Amino acid sequence: MKHREIDVEKLREQFREFLRTKMYRNTQERFRVLERAAELDRHFTADELYLYMNQRGDKISRATVYSTLDLLTRCNIVTKHRFQGDSATYELTARKPNHDHLICRDCGYMVEFQDSALVVLQDEIARRYGMRALSHAFQIFATCDDSNCQRRLHEQSPTENA
Ligand SMILES: [Zn+2]
Ligand SMILES: [Zn+2]
Repeated sequence: MKHREIDVEKLREQFREFLRTKMYRNTQERFRVLERAAELDRHFTADELYLYMNQRGDKISRATVYSTLDLLTRCNIVTKHRFQGDSATYELTARKPNHDHLICRDCGYMVEFQDSALVVLQDEIARRYGMRALSHAFQIFATCDDSNCQRRLHEQSPTENA
């Protein structure tokens, strides 16, 4: 899947407009969170982004990272996923449009895939109920083949009776 070149200036403009119409303060820190999220060309948790920003020397609080990610999710610049476990996973919406996720329930290994049949299906289902589909989120929870699964590889360590 080819990555789309991310137009950060366009995202900044979109965020500025969102903050303005919702009467939120237009702070430099909030834009820094957006820029750093765009640098991370992958899925990340709020804590991972916070650590990354600290490593890069940004003076920012964890609370600001969390609250800004919330705003970025609300204006659809960032997509929030709830896979398994407690912490939400984020990614830039423009990073890979229209992809879905296949996740190993045991080791967390994840595949991002695109399948046009799902787009046809989303349109069909929405039409059936008199609506127009905009996007969908589809997650497949699965298990890896035994020989590949990281979890099962660890469990087969020689100290155990595997
Ligand atoms: Zn993804
Ligand atoms: Zn696995």
